[in-house]
Amino acid sequence: MRVGKYELGRTLGKGTFAKVKYGRNLETEAGVAIKIIDKNRVLKHKMIAQIKREISTMKLIQHPNVIRMYEVMASKTKIYIVLEFVTGGELFDKIATRGKLKEDRARKYFQQLINAVDYCHSKGVYHRDLKPENLLLDAKRVLKVSDFGLSALHQHVREDGLLYTTCGTPNYVAPEVLKNKGYHGTKADVWSCGVILFVLMAGYLPFDDSNLMGLYTQIFRANFRFPSWFSPSARILIKRILDPNPSTVHNLLLFPTFSMFS
Ligand code: ADP
Ligand code: MG
Repeated sequence: MRVGKYELGRTLGKGTFAKVKYGRNLETEAGVAIKIIDKNRVLKHKMIAQIKREISTMKLIQHPNVIRMYEVMASKTKIYIVLEFVTGGELFDKIATRGKLKEDRARKYFQQLINAVDYCHSKGVYHRDLKPENLLLDAKRVLKVSDFGLSALHQHVREDGLLYTTCGTPNYVAPEVLKNKGYHGTKADVWSCGVILFVLMAGYLPFDDSNLMGLYTQIFRANFRFPSWFSPSARILIKRILDPNPSTVHNLLLFPTFSMFS
């Protein structure tokens, strides 16, 4: 099957609201990943303007740690998002199969993550769904954040209730987001980065409970414990990021403090 100048190949993965297929650019032979979204199921009219805006911003974003978005096409029923293709899989799978990372390795991934997030924020784009499942690796173990600017689609799915149960867990979500009272995209993303750093170094989640209310309570109180092997500088950094009060001043001054952990 062909879409524009791309020939569609095998399925690379299935997400919560999209299917991702391999594509070949017939003009250059270059490989791409094509995210295929079913329009009718996820889009309501009021969201279209926001999604178009975010997608056009994403096309301007070029960063070594963010999956490039090359172009977007649409048919009557589907949206095709053409993306940079990477072969290293999800960081999530690495942790799931091999367990925690050494602090040095975790630090390298974390720095790449923060660089990507900081850059996108400077362009006014927020992720809102950062988790290891959305962190891909290339063949040289360079971290690439995927799905930047696409969270509007997810949120819509959630709002609809349609895909609520398959939409993943709130384990990475900042307390102010869970409280649903409005929040800063910046701080919410930084919180998720803190949870990700913890997971990379611990091999398990800081906030976890089979009961959803129990989980919320842990997150609202930022109730977690460090494993014995975390270094003092990692502890200080994570403690500052996972601060349940979003208006605490030092949260806004986080980026300079990252250098302590470099
Ligand atoms: P969703 O956002 O709906 O969860 P994802 O964007 O996470 O969907 O994609 C689902 C899967 O497709 C990923 O886990 C990954 O295996 C694969 N995938 C997504 N984007 C790429 C890409 N740019 N290169 C290679 N594989 C990708
Ligand atoms: Mg995803």
